[in-house]
Parts: sequence; C-alpha cells; structure tokens
Amino acid sequence: MCGIVAYVGKRKASNILIKGLKRLEYRGYDSAGIALINNDINVYKCQGRVSDLESILTEEDIHGFVGMGHTRWATHGEPTDINAHPHESMNGDFIIIHNGIIENYSKLKIGLENEGYSFKSETDTEVLANLIEYVFLSHINDDIPFSAEEAVRQALLMVEGAYGLVVIAKSEKDKLIAARKGSPLVIGIGKEEYFIASDATPIIEYTNSVIYLNDGDIAIITKNSLNLTNLKNVSQKPDIKTIDLKLDEIEKGGFEHYMLKEIYEQPKAIKDTCRGRLSFEAKALKLGGLHDVFEELKSAKRILIIACGTSWHAGLVGEYLLEEFTRIPTEVEYASEFRYRNPVINKGDIVIAISQSGETADTLAAIQLAKSAGALVLGVCNVVGSSIPRETVAGVYTHAGPEIGVASTKAFTAQVTVLTMMAMAIGYANKGLTKKEYEDLIDELYLIPEKIEKILEKADFVEKIADLIKDANNALYLGRGYLFPVALEGALKLKEISYIHAEGYPAAEMKHGPIALIDDKMPVIVLATKDHSYDKIVSNIQEVKARKGLIIAVVTEGDTTIKNMADYVIEVPHSDFALAPLLTVIPLQLLSYYTAVKRGCNVDQPRNLAKSVTVE
Ligand code: GLU
Repeated sequence: MCGIVAYVGKRKASNILIKGLKRLEYRGYDSAGIALINNDINVYKCQGRVSDLESILTEEDIHGFVGMGHTRWATHGEPTDINAHPHESMNGDFIIIHNGIIENYSKLKIGLENEGYSFKSETDTEVLANLIEYVFLSHINDDIPFSAEEAVRQALLMVEGAYGLVVIAKSEKDKLIAARKGSPLVIGIGKEEYFIASDATPIIEYTNSVIYLNDGDIAIITKNSLNLTNLKNVSQKPDIKTIDLKLDEIEKGGFEHYMLKEIYEQPKAIKDTCRGRLSFEAKALKLGGLHDVFEELKSAKRILIIACGTSWHAGLVGEYLLEEFTRIPTEVEYASEFRYRNPVINKGDIVIAISQSGETADTLAAIQLAKSAGALVLGVCNVVGSSIPRETVAGVYTHAGPEIGVASTKAFTAQVTVLTMMAMAIGYANKGLTKKEYEDLIDELYLIPEKIEKILEKADFVEKIADLIKDANNALYLGRGYLFPVALEGALKLKEISYIHAEGYPAAEMKHGPIALIDDKMPVIVLATKDHSYDKIVSNIQEVKARKGLIIAVVTEGDTTIKNMADYVIEVPHSDFALAPLLTVIPLQLLSYYTAVKRGCNVDQPRNLAKSVTVE
C-alpha cells in the first residue's frame, strides 16, 4: 500500500516520477504528489489519481534532477489535498514520503506540540517529518556538525510501527535518505543515477541492477554514491541483485484492464509455475525450493497455512489437498488472527505462509511468531526477493509474473498450482498417494492450462450472464468440498470490484441461514462439477429453484441434469476433483470482471482497496 518513487541523477526527475507513480498506482490511489528539487524544493500534490496530479503541473514547474513521488492509500486522515504526501516539516527543513503506519504518532505529536510544533495534516507521516526536524534543530549548535541523515536515524529510533520512506533535507538537496522497516523499498542502480521505489516496476525501464533494502537499513544516496548503513549507523554490505522483469509484463498489452489481461494470462502463469518442476514425460515432480526441508515435510505432524484474502482461499484449497494426499492434519488461519491469538505452535509444525506480494504485513508478523515458537516456516510468494522469501527457510515461488490488477486472479491459480504440487510431492513420498494416483495427477495437472484456454473461449457467454446480475444487490456462491473455497473466492471477486454484496457458502450450510435470503432477485452461483458430492449439490440447486432463485451453475462439459434445472450453465472441461478449483474459478473471475465493467466500476482500482497490504 502506498507507492513510493524517488530519483537522483542526470535525467529530468519529473518524467521518471510521474511514470513511476502510474506503475505504482495499484498500491493506492487516494492522492498523489511529488517534490522536485530545483534550487528550491517544490511540492505538488492533490487528492485523486496520478492523472489529477499531472493536470496541475505546468512545464515551468517540472525541472530538476532530484525528486520523489507518492501515491497514497490513506491510513491516517482522509484522502485530501492536505493529507497527500510529500509532507513538509513545520520550518520546511525536511520533506518526506512514507508508506506504513507510525503507531506511536499520537504520543510523538503531543510531545512535538509541547515543543511548539503545529500540524497541517491529520497524518502520522507529518509527525515523523516534524520529529526529524526537531531532532535536527536540537543539534544545530553542536560543535560537531550534525547531519540530516543522523537526524533521520535518531528520529526513527523513537518510532514504533512500519515504514518505507524517503527524506530530502533542505540543507542537502542533492541527497536522498531512504529507510525501511516493514514496508518494502528497492534501490535501482544506474550510471550516475539511482532510483528508489516500493517495487521494481518504476525502475526496470532504466536498470535491472537492484538492492532490496532490509528492515533497519538506511541508504544515503547521491547521483554518484550509495552508502548503506543501519539504525545503529553500522555500515551494511549492499547485496546487488539482477532482476528479470520485462517492461511488457507490466503493461496492459492491448487489454482494456490489467485484471482481464491477468485472467487471460493464467494458462501461461500455471505453465510457468510448473516449468522445471513437473515433467509429463518422466512422470516426475521436483520442487527444488523444498529440497532441504523435504524430510521434515514428509514426517510433519501438522501443517499450518497462514495467509490473508485471496491467498487465504488458496490456502483453504491447500488444506483439502494436503489432507487428502498426505493425511497430514492441516489448518488454515488468517494471518491477522494467528498473530494476535496465542496459537498453539509445536516444535516440528510446518507453517506455510502464502502471499502474492511477499510483503503482506500480517503474514510477515505471523511468520515471526511461528519462527519464534520453533516452527519450520515456508513461503509461497510471487515476488522474487520480497520480504517473505527472505524471512522463510525455504519455499516455492509462483511464477505468475507481475500482478497489477488489485483483484487477484492469476496469483490465486498459481498459488493453488504450487499447493497442488506440494501436496502431490509429499503425498507420494509419505505414501498418501499410490504411484498410479500420483502419475494420473501429473497428467491431469499438465493438461490444466489447455483446459483453461477452453474456458476463456467462453468469455462472451459469461459476459452475457453478467447482464443478469449487474443490477443485483446480493449474490450467493455455493460449493462443496474443493469447490467451497472457490465459492468464497468467487464471492470475494464480485464484492471487490463490482461492490455487490456476495457471500460464499458450503452448499449444505445454505439451509442453516442463507436460504432465508433467496427470492427471485437473488442470483445463486453454484459450483457443480461432477465429483463425489454431485448428487448433493443437485439437491441444493432444487432447493434454490423451489424458492425462485436465479441459478447460474458451473458444470462439467456435457452435464444435462443441471442444464435442465439451472437458468444458465457455464461448462468447464472434466478434471480430477482435486484440480477442479483451477478450472471453476475462471468463469467466476470473468463474471465479476464483466459485472464490474457493466456497472461502470473502476476494475483495476476498486474503491478503498489497494494491492500489497503492507499495513495491518
Ligand atoms: N500512514 C500514511 C498515511 O496515511 C501512509 C499510508 C500507507 O502507507 O498506506 O498517509
């Protein structure tokens, strides 16, 4: 949440900042702002999108070779012009952009007010700007000169909470001071130029040489130098990495929205996630990232999956898969609950943390808790080099490519693919699966991308069905077994981007409450592919029909029974039951996409949401 970009070098900073903010806008779009250094420090900021910011800039404004920009997802204070970043300190000595939350801001603010400070905004960030200035000015008469970076360091030692930030001091305008604790920051290294950003997308156009800051790092950057230290002012060795991210991966490539592009990218995302791991010819499966911990995995007494949002839904599918294939008891928890509820974690438990961005604040905190209790913690993440892979001993990357649409699609199916492969590998090794079952699953998984292609060919038909639900106020999603988590995910997708209230339920639970809501205005989306509970779900459909609910069913190709009952059926190819989530979720993603478009919603930037949830 919140996008940060900064530049120092030989090019006009404004172009780089605006372009970078557009790439980071998925992280927050409540307001946007930039500070440009050109003799003076000039700040331009406004509520709304980066395009709104652009419209207030004139040619005369945009000079200078140093600057920083911010796109906000508000935590403290409404999305207004005044609360937009950058924030200046009261006397104008410091200017800051910040991603995160200063948790003790209120106490610090009272202290600063007692020292004569006043505040323009309601943000926690302005408190930090003033705190830095206060520390700096307290040392202004010291015999030994006190630097701006030392003021930042000392102020940060007083701060509780999370930050990824960039500071520019009026006294040292050729310098960027960047610091990280909890919220991600990447530094791009060019020739006589440096970039700082929340993720690599604003940087890759200029360089693929980057440093991911660690928690506690402070980087002091000028056009020609980078000095990495920590909060104790101990020098740190920069770990320079080469990133493999192409520009076309983060552009829309002819699609109207990132979300649609990403829905269509799923066959490739799954293939890429299986590449080098799953061999159809050799009937083999190898997860290199788990090699060193595989013995522990095989003999695990319990597996705990921790995640948030869509990743939590992938985790639920993982629970079903792991228990069925490996017989290892598996539980799934919301990371935010896990971290605060004193959970039972036994030495020898395996914890799997799932996060697309690898930066989810609650998941990161839950990992720390699990590690301190002696659990072996693994990660399933999409962003290479992000915090979760660095905090976990082993794991498996999803190779979905950058996911920019706020509503997750391809990351979900890639996560489910990884969890399927994990369950298969462990299950075969601990004899939960026979050789035949294992090999059949390899064949089935291999065919999934092709089957998804077939479902995507039906997008026009799904678009027509969206007409039926676009004016609904509520919708119900029902599924059983492996398809229950898919029902939850389908409902979440509809809520997120079309703002229609939707609930996902295990189909049998319907009669314990939600059935009371069904009338002729209630669309009921039923996941009803052929599996061992097929007859049961057919009965559930009858129950909905008896109450005049509008039934849209996702069924196995060739199904005639449900076709005769439902108002609409969307067919998906046959697959093993355990792999059905990878197929049945596709029409639900399309349905929410087209419904949102028909309702005139901003699909890629739904209201109040942002991607990469780096705050609690
Ligand atoms: N807490 C800061 C604000 O509200 C930054 C928010 C964020 O990083 O999401 O402006």
